[in-house]
Amino acid sequence: MSMRELVVLGTASQAPTRARNHNGYVLRWDDEVILFDPGEGSQRQLLHTGVTASDLTRICVTHFHGDHCLGLPGTIQRLSLDRVSHPVAVHFPAGGADYFTRLRHASSFHETAELAVAPIEADGQRIALKHGTLEARRLRHPIETYGYRLLEPDGCRMLPERLAAYGIAGPAVGELRRTGHLDLGGRRVTRDEVSVPRPGQRFAFVMDTGLCDGVYALAERADLLVIESTFLESEVALAAEVGHLTAGQAARVAAESGVRRLVLTHFSQRYAEPARFADEARRHFDGDLVIAEDLITIQVPSRRVPSAG
Ligand SMILES: [Zn+2]
Repeated sequence: MSMRELVVLGTASQAPTRARNHNGYVLRWDDEVILFDPGEGSQRQLLHTGVTASDLTRICVTHFHGDHCLGLPGTIQRLSLDRVSHPVAVHFPAGGADYFTRLRHASSFHETAELAVAPIEADGQRIALKHGTLEARRLRHPIETYGYRLLEPDGCRMLPERLAAYGIAGPAVGELRRTGHLDLGGRRVTRDEVSVPRPGQRFAFVMDTGLCDGVYALAERADLLVIESTFLESEVALAAEVGHLTAGQAARVAAESGVRRLVLTHFSQRYAEPARFADEARRHFDGDLVIAEDLITIQVPSRRVPSAG
């Protein structure tokens, strides 16, 4: 069973609090371990989670406001300190390349780790992974910002009773899955006759944005959506002005996009009571809801396969 889960390093926007570290998230997705938006303190938060710098395969930065990237210098230097032997891919908005260069070389260190730097140049850019596709979509924020989503290709699940009815077993099952059909004594059996569709899993990461098309494009049918909810509806005008979302807006996006598990995070320090975010989101979204806390782990819910009927 492959492991797909989100490890939360920090959940504060702008300024950390006693209970919340600056932003930071790690997604385990099969053989990928992706660090998103490492804020200050991410290196130490990793220590508490069991994820090591050596585990990281990729770093994705949505934009170059400090709470989303000031953890880069320490994390990047740690890759070299730990003699990480595999290349680590790094994605960020191309317009922020100067910031990235400065963060990467913020202080003196012996650089041995290899970074595969691949900036995001355009809305909709896709990067092929071993088990799916990473896609970036432009968001609405005062500086160039991209959200990300991971898409697993749709597949199918073979139905043992149907296979048995046709007498298909062993290597023939693999051939049928691969080629889509099998010729059996003058009769062609197609894959559709002996399987049901299994939609690929989707993970979406939406950080620092006002409502825009990119938000909906990323959230569409996500099994797990991690989305900023900096504000509550009482500050909806302020949120729009500074390019952020309220818990209510984030929850409505999730409801309208068919999201299964919604993770709210990136909270403004002005609110002391996390329950207020849950109360507001619950008015709009009745699926799984998680109000993120530092150092929790959240599973990507597995796709339910429709029964054969
Ligand atoms: Zn920002």
